[in-house]
Amino acid sequence: MARNGTAYKRILLKLSGEALKAPGAESGIDAEAIAGVAERIRKVVESGVQVALVVGAGNIFRGLPASRNGMARVTADSMGMMATVINALGLQDALEAAGVPAQIQTPFPMPGIGEAFDHRRAIAHLETGRVVIFAGGTGHPFFTTDTTAALRACEIGADAIFKATKVDGVYSADPHKDPQARRYSQLAYTDALQKRLQVMDSSAFSLCMDNDIPIVVFNFSRPGGISRALSGDLASATIVGHGETLAETE
Ligand code: UDP
Repeated sequence: MARNGTAYKRILLKLSGEALKAPGAESGIDAEAIAGVAERIRKVVESGVQVALVVGAGNIFRGLPASRNGMARVTADSMGMMATVINALGLQDALEAAGVPAQIQTPFPMPGIGEAFDHRRAIAHLETGRVVIFAGGTGHPFFTTDTTAALRACEIGADAIFKATKVDGVYSADPHKDPQARRYSQLAYTDALQKRLQVMDSSAFSLCMDNDIPIVVFNFSRPGGISRALSGDLASATIVGHGETLAETE
């Protein structure tokens, strides 16, 4: 157990762009929503856990649907990556307003916005209590920010990826459609693959599995959800790793 009372010293928090929208809105960045996100991250940082962030862009632009509507995929994905930078700037601003210093790193040069990705510098920032925001995805089209999260987690030696969602973890089926759906508190990587449970996209998932990075899928919209998941309380979270699979029996 690390000095902060949790099993985690350094985490990679993956936020979808959706976390920055106003409730019920189709798109955009909402001041209250982003301040709420920053406040939750502040509490985690103050508990002594090092936090690196990867943010998506589903609240602004995603490449794949745009390419299905006729746009060149590489261009559409570049737009998606730029949109993650917009979200990262919003998060940096909100974190700093909450008193948490935050550094943006990008995979392509963006002087004036952030520094170039460098895993050693990222670790040094984390060790001084800064949040590092990995913006711009992997810098390559055809990937997602889930894959970015998996890759950066490996590069900085994170103890786990915390994937923020609006549900209480991973279910055997969609709980909104299937009353028999059971929630897992623990899930073996191999069972997730066998049962085709979509924890993350397949490239992201394999990177985690091959490099022994646990994925904690947790409900970020619940007050205290992340702190509880960090302390090992899996009442509204699922940990995916090499351990056994445990499902709720109800
Ligand atoms: N993207 C990309 N390469 C990456 C990461 C992201 O091309 O390494 C683009 C892709 O178009 C994607 C968009 O950025 O749709 C936004 O990321 P994502 O869909 O993962 O956002 P989220 O669903 O997490 O909000």
